[in-house]
Amino acid sequence: MPDDTITWRAMLAETAQVVADRTSALWLCQRASGYDAEEFMGELDNPVTSRSATHLHDMVRRFIGGEPLQYVLGRWAFRRVDIMVDTRVLIPRPETEMLVDLVLEEVRQKPGSTIIDLGTGSGAIGLAVLDELPLSHSTVWMTDVSRDALDVASANVAGLGRPGISARLVHGSWFDALPVELKEAVDVVVANPPYVEDDDPDLEERVREWEPSLALFAGPDGLRDIATIVSGCNQWLRSDGLLLIEFGSRQGDAVRALAIDAGLCDVEILQDLAGLDRVLRARTSH
Ligand code: GLN
Repeated sequence: MPDDTITWRAMLAETAQVVADRTSALWLCQRASGYDAEEFMGELDNPVTSRSATHLHDMVRRFIGGEPLQYVLGRWAFRRVDIMVDTRVLIPRPETEMLVDLVLEEVRQKPGSTIIDLGTGSGAIGLAVLDELPLSHSTVWMTDVSRDALDVASANVAGLGRPGISARLVHGSWFDALPVELKEAVDVVVANPPYVEDDDPDLEERVREWEPSLALFAGPDGLRDIATIVSGCNQWLRSDGLLLIEFGSRQGDAVRALAIDAGLCDVEILQDLAGLDRVLRARTSH
């Protein structure tokens, strides 16, 4: 090995010092190497190519500049899907994964279902649903008001391969994006809408600085978009259709009241893995 080359083991140690975090250093080195996690462990005593070193230095520079690791890596895992992410979309969060279980539980025994992922962002929810259903089992409409987000979602649909044929991407604000033929024909509406209060003092600085405001903030009480979805869903869901919405951990009572006011039935507030109020589940009764 020539003198100017270093092994991945040495590069990893050096990176861990620079970024002061061994786990992030491992992610960054793996990504720069082009190997998957398992392969990378077998490469530790092999030399780092200059191309990988350049890629790594660029990522380390962004990471120590404060950019979230997920954006620096350019992708993040959501359930079984590797989702491409950048600053055009929210980073998929673990608490959102439960929405996918709730959709699957509803439609697994109902082939031919129509599912709407409203405000899809990166496409994480809709694509994870398609990935875990048999091929062509159900159709998932994915909407977003942000054309930038739809570009990311569309790249992720392509990345999913064959299950992606059942995805339909449409542009527009909430239900306005949908074709009228879907009125009262939808089995499930699922959404992780913006729900952060505009001036929320608890919001992490890194989130506020880097993630798209459009995907985060929903007015002084954070309920603006949830209210729109709850009141609009009656026109689109079929009778006994299911509504699933993620919300902020302090919004449970307000969200329950919105659902009851809209005439929805079987209204439930479900907790996430941390035991915090997180998801509204309700049904249409018309
Ligand atoms: N869970 C996100 C956060 O607080 C917010 C996501 C959202 O508004 N949908 O960081």
